[in-house]
Amino acid sequence: MNGLDRSLQSIIDPDLQAQWMAGTSKKALLAQLFATQVDNGVMPRAQINGISRLDSFHADGMQFCLQRNYGRVTRGVSDQVHPAPPYSIPFRGGMPCFCCPEVISYQWPNERGIYAEVGGKPLVILPNISPIFVPHFTVISPEHRPQLMDCNIAVALAAMVPGAWVIQNGQDAGATNPWHYHLQLFFADDLPLVHCPIENGGDAIGVLHHPTLIVRISAPDPALFEAQLSDFVAEYLNLGETRRVNLLIREGAGLWTGYVVLRDTRFRTDLYRSGQPGYAEPAGIISAVDDASYDIWASENVRRYHRLMTDIRPIDAETVDFIQALLAPS
Ligand SMILES: [Zn+2]
Repeated sequence: MNGLDRSLQSIIDPDLQAQWMAGTSKKALLAQLFATQVDNGVMPRAQINGISRLDSFHADGMQFCLQRNYGRVTRGVSDQVHPAPPYSIPFRGGMPCFCCPEVISYQWPNERGIYAEVGGKPLVILPNISPIFVPHFTVISPEHRPQLMDCNIAVALAAMVPGAWVIQNGQDAGATNPWHYHLQLFFADDLPLVHCPIENGGDAIGVLHHPTLIVRISAPDPALFEAQLSDFVAEYLNLGETRRVNLLIREGAGLWTGYVVLRDTRFRTDLYRSGQPGYAEPAGIISAVDDASYDIWASENVRRYHRLMTDIRPIDAETVDFIQALLAPS
């Protein structure tokens, strides 16, 4: 905590930070942090009310939920393939990086967060300004560095906040800010994704029965889980420079579970914003941003969801071979 620069220091909520360090329930403190942001006007209450109600659609073993998330803001540029790192400056193309502490403290002076060292790396937990869940957080690196996958930090964060979902969207796979490392953290009792049965493979590693390609990895031991997850993600990304993933992990009842949505920037959709939906859509959550989009999703429902997911499913021969090798008995 000592030695944080001034803009970062101004973001930290001193009371909540002291309780965090003192070991008060992390889930309770985060709920308080999120509520504070509604009270002080950073997040509109009407938006929170809208996302709290989900309408569910089911057919042929598929399920997704539709929410009225009419305040959802798209502040980033995620509809193009970005060049490889490193990116070294917080201002790019004249647009400030909204994850850099100096920009946050200037643009959103009421935004408050909690500082934590996670897996040896500094992070700041902030209420997500475009939440999909209540509560929902963006977890940023104080340092401006690119959005590269890091299973080690994601698992360490999930271990620090038991029961929370920890998410990372790859660059051009839904990450709103591909230039600045960030995770997401939320609490949700239920996601449609967790009800998908395994289609191929077993409990330790298997492919879900889902219209896009999602691999589930489970292990009771966090070190083993992290090693298996890291190896798997690295192997998939090594298939080529267009490969990306969405990562969703959680520890619950002594079992670590990770869902890896296999993505490839060559496979896009015309049904959703930038063509590259993030983790929420494969997990079964569709945010309608206005009445018109709500009506389209509600009327076409499962048919539209199936098309959205098959649009982004990587179906090339290399991916098929990769999955076959993964599931082959050793
Ligand atoms: Zn930045």
